[in-house]
Amino acid sequence: MALIFICADIEGVAGVVNREETLITGSDWQRARERMTMEVLAAIDGARTAGATGFTVADSHGTATNILPDMLPDDAELVRGTPRPLMMMEGVDHGPFTAAFLLGHHAGIGQLRGGLAHSFSSRLISTLRVNGRDLPECALNAAIAGQFGTPVTLVTGDDACIAEAVEWLGPVETATTKRSIGYFAASGRSPAVIRDDIRTAAARATARAGEVSPFRLDGLLAVDLTLKWPLMAEMLAYLPMFERTDALSVRFEAADAATLARQLQFLLTVLPSLA
Ligand SMILES: [Zn+2]
Repeated sequence: MALIFICADIEGVAGVVNREETLITGSDWQRARERMTMEVLAAIDGARTAGATGFTVADSHGTATNILPDMLPDDAELVRGTPRPLMMMEGVDHGPFTAAFLLGHHAGIGQLRGGLAHSFSSRLISTLRVNGRDLPECALNAAIAGQFGTPVTLVTGDDACIAEAVEWLGPVETATTKRSIGYFAASGRSPAVIRDDIRTAAARATARAGEVSPFRLDGLLAVDLTLKWPLMAEMLAYLPMFERTDALSVRFEAADAATLARQLQFLLTVLPSLA
């Protein structure tokens, strides 16, 4: 019996290139959320052919109300809404899962390339580093899964995201949804063809799950966070856990990946009041 955890974002979905597609107020969001849902369904189909029998799907973009719940199969549980303590990986602690898939992902803010590249918030975060290294969403998400004993075995997104994921996670299965041209531009094949690729990759990623070790970020994590407005860093430095390192930046520590998720979720929820 193989149980699969799926974390689904939208920026890396086939065809998605700009905010009209990623914001719930955007003129093309309805089409993008349908395609995001269909990519999740393709991954579920593929995993099922390799023996998966149950799924938890975390809707992990923006308001986390993108995936159309009525389209999911009977054996899938949907995690919806935000804020939540494990952020994009909420529910991965309710395993044990055989494997986790990161779908529709995008490159981190530290990359020179990548469509819609950001790390957890394009509105609030300019840089996010852990132990001196730029931390993309795929790495923290994989580390949270790893903390609960689950290996990430599939990543889908544009070519910049895939390159970054392989750099962090090693030889995971991948499906490249499009080629990044710029922040708001990409080139790619039809979403239906991409879904076929995702289906095939998900089958391999399920079959190979036993060979992949959970990814971990071990030890105390030193976090450097650069925000968009000086007032945010100024106010955080009122609290002893934050050291202000420049006008826009603070440094703090996280005991582990799941704790960092809670800290970031707290910050992303309260900092907009200072913008
Ligand atoms: Zn997103």
